[in-house]
Amino acid sequence: VKKYEGKKVLVLGLAKSGFNAAKLLKKLGAYVTVNDKQNFDDSVDAQKLLSEGIKVISGSHPLSLLDEGFTLIVKNPGIPYDNPIVKGALERKIPIITEIELASEVSEAQLVAVTGSNGKTTTTTMITKMLNQERTTGQSYDAGNIGIPASQVAQKVTKADSLVLEVSSFMLLGITQFHPHIAVLTNIFSNHLDYHKTRENYVRAKMRITMNQTDQDYFVVNFDNKEWRDLSKQTKAKVIPFSRLDVDETGAYEKSGKLYWRDDFIMMADEIKVPGDHNVENALAAIAVAKIEGKTNTAIKHVLTTFGGVRHRTQYVLTAEGRQYYNDSKATDIEATEMALKGFKQPVILLAGGLDRGYVFDKLVPSFKEHVKGIVLFGQTDKLLEDAAKKAGVKSIVFAKNVKDGVPKAFELSDSGDIILLSPANASWDQYPNFEVRGDEFIEAVEELTGEKEEK
Ligand code: ADP
Repeated sequence: VKKYEGKKVLVLGLAKSGFNAAKLLKKLGAYVTVNDKQNFDDSVDAQKLLSEGIKVISGSHPLSLLDEGFTLIVKNPGIPYDNPIVKGALERKIPIITEIELASEVSEAQLVAVTGSNGKTTTTTMITKMLNQERTTGQSYDAGNIGIPASQVAQKVTKADSLVLEVSSFMLLGITQFHPHIAVLTNIFSNHLDYHKTRENYVRAKMRITMNQTDQDYFVVNFDNKEWRDLSKQTKAKVIPFSRLDVDETGAYEKSGKLYWRDDFIMMADEIKVPGDHNVENALAAIAVAKIEGKTNTAIKHVLTTFGGVRHRTQYVLTAEGRQYYNDSKATDIEATEMALKGFKQPVILLAGGLDRGYVFDKLVPSFKEHVKGIVLFGQTDKLLEDAAKKAGVKSIVFAKNVKDGVPKAFELSDSGDIILLSPANASWDQYPNFEVRGDEFIEAVEELTGEKEEK
């Protein structure tokens, strides 16, 4: 990629992606300045950037930067377009891209991109694993929103590899040439309207994933909703539907508990290791991609029967004395916990609680009634959740100091055949730095209690 040689580029927002974008641009011969509103002058990152000859300006977004002759801005996806410096750049007609655009320019690998409101990480992981089956050459990598910045992985992949990118609507606003061979749209709910302002804008941002595709490419899309189905008319790519409810036999679908690709039976839906209908949808999206890439049913089935979920997202941990332990620490709101509970047929001992954000937990009463046998409560919302549990007639209600203290208490309430589930329905910040630490504590406590190791 020669187009950045000698160009003056401004990277807005440091973070992991900005850091990598800056280094990549420098490598490609650009003059790079990184600007972040937080002061990071004394950080290790700043030292590293400086030592590579990258200019660092931090502590604010000075508008005077816009008069320094930058011909391109690489913007962190989280910085909104109404930020004064971004507005100023738009007025001066300085092109603004996000780091995935850069990544797609340097990557030689076959590109798969996954977007949607929910299920992105799970679907991206399933696809990556499936594309790693039965390979004679190269490897499949995941990157993007899922963890490692796209521009970092993009530099090491070759033509023989596949690069599976999880992309957010914020990232998609900053693309011009980004062109995945296979694009996946999992679903569109009304998230992120604070950023996009209207649902129409949000949908339009998501649909950018397919804007550069041609009839040689594929657009894999959820057909279980009329709006999403209609959106598929906008693409130039071949439309590959997946469906769980509104059966469309031209793609991947579930019918009477069985999963199919076209007229080919693959496996039973309940053989998928990650629980819940939403994961059947994620699996169907992944099956569609795997089939486009020519994978066999054996390969697909192997992945879906062994993949225990992404860490902290209804992640299967282990089974001991007939109890199956699941870590869903990522469930920081009511809907996520409802979704997790719905995924289980067995009685659940639930560990829940956390930061009080004024949620009303009555919405959980029906799913408590249907699924929860015992509940262990911790954190600021323990009393509020107790009210909901009482309304639902949950038999055993116990209080714990925290997750670690709650695990043995949950075990005491359980019988063989039960599920022991951490799905807090609350953010973690009253007791933990983040949901990952909370989930890790759960796994450790389960390992300590059972003497078994987390299955990976
Ligand atoms: P994302 O990366 O889009 O945030 P994840 O795969 O990390 O999605 O899943 C996060 C949570 O979103 C899950 O724990 C589950 O509650 C919910 N979820 C996952 N897949 C779906 C889906 N296909 N439809 C609706 N909700 C889903």
